[in-house]
Amino acid sequence: MAEQDQQKANKAEKKDKQFATKLIHFGAEIDEHTGASSVPIYQASTFHHHDIFNPPDYDYSRSGNPTRQALEDYIALLEGGERGFAFSSGMAAISTTFLLLSSGDHVIVTEDVYGGTYRLLTSILDRLGIESTFVDMTRFEEVKAALKPNTKAVFMETPSNPTLKITDIAEVTAWAKQHDLLTMLDNTFMTPYHQRPIELGVDIVLHSATKFLGGHSDVLAGLAVAANESLGRRLKQLQNGLGTVLGAQESWLLIRGMKTLQARMEHSEKSARKLAAWLSRLDGVERVYYPGLEDHPGRDIHEKQSLGYGAVVSFDVGDGDRAKAVLSRVKLPIVAVSLGAVESILSYPAMMSHAAMPREVRHERGITDGLLRYSVGLEDIDDLIADLEQALRQ
Ligand SMILES: *Cc1c(COP(=O)(O)O)cnc(C)c1O
Repeated sequence: MAEQDQQKANKAEKKDKQFATKLIHFGAEIDEHTGASSVPIYQASTFHHHDIFNPPDYDYSRSGNPTRQALEDYIALLEGGERGFAFSSGMAAISTTFLLLSSGDHVIVTEDVYGGTYRLLTSILDRLGIESTFVDMTRFEEVKAALKPNTKAVFMETPSNPTLKITDIAEVTAWAKQHDLLTMLDNTFMTPYHQRPIELGVDIVLHSATKFLGGHSDVLAGLAVAANESLGRRLKQLQNGLGTVLGAQESWLLIRGMKTLQARMEHSEKSARKLAAWLSRLDGVERVYYPGLEDHPGRDIHEKQSLGYGAVVSFDVGDGDRAKAVLSRVKLPIVAVSLGAVESILSYPAMMSHAAMPREVRHERGITDGLLRYSVGLEDIDDLIADLEQALRQ
């Protein structure tokens, strides 16, 4: 068989496997040249031309690096897309992707989009003539009403941060297609283990791989997956042109982290369900946000489009003083920005991720002074609950 046909056959075979198998047997798990059991770290900026008339596959690491390529093929396989791209951070992935748009274009965006994405749209892309309208995407009428003659794209994030609001991905995507709009979705909170938006018609899936995909709070990275080859080519041109690439060492670290994605997500999700159920029975906790709870708004939609509920639970302890007291008393989770790691992470959105948002807007969106966000790690859940209980009790 010709080498290309062989590659195609291998790719098709990988695609047929279950998710857990894909995580381990993703294509580059054995080094072709040496049989090494992990992808080599090609720490090289440039590549020798053995034959000047036949340029090598890789010629310069901004344009392509074998370690990064292994990661890019890996995420494309997991998301069920055509081509993957690795970037120096989640924001590098998101900003590079937004540059598919041009001056004069308009994009419709989830109102409770990640803070960095909000900042990109409202303080950088607006200067370049890319306009955005923020809507409550749980209300489809609002999405439709935001359509303008120059609308070119829709950007979704579901469940959103930190109140875990649910957008109906298939509904928005089908409508977007009718209007020739590009659809993008930030899948950081769910990961491809729990949610695969390309299967629901989304064009480009984005990740802050810094979170669950990396999983160990030790690498900053972003990923994008294009559903088809023509979008893939355009993204490749932007990634190379802007130079927002991920380095070889980080690419390797991310691959290493991703191999345990299912094992980590399964454990953390089970614990998160238990934590959410416990919190929702507790006096003094005013509200619990978790898509796995019976009464979570949009739960039926979430269940239709996702395979799990994730590992992030937000809850409202009533007021700022109480929230701060809990933050100073917990002993197990680290108190920090970020999420999706082996260790539990407790965040305070009002003073961390959403500090830049005006107070009234923040409150309107449920991001009150008493709201805490718990990203459940791999510790024993009974220890985590006991720890939180003592912090809440005092
Ligand atoms: C963290 C995060 C980002 C940004 O990713 P970085 O890796 O920090 O640049 C984007 N979207 C979501 C949902 C995030 O949680």
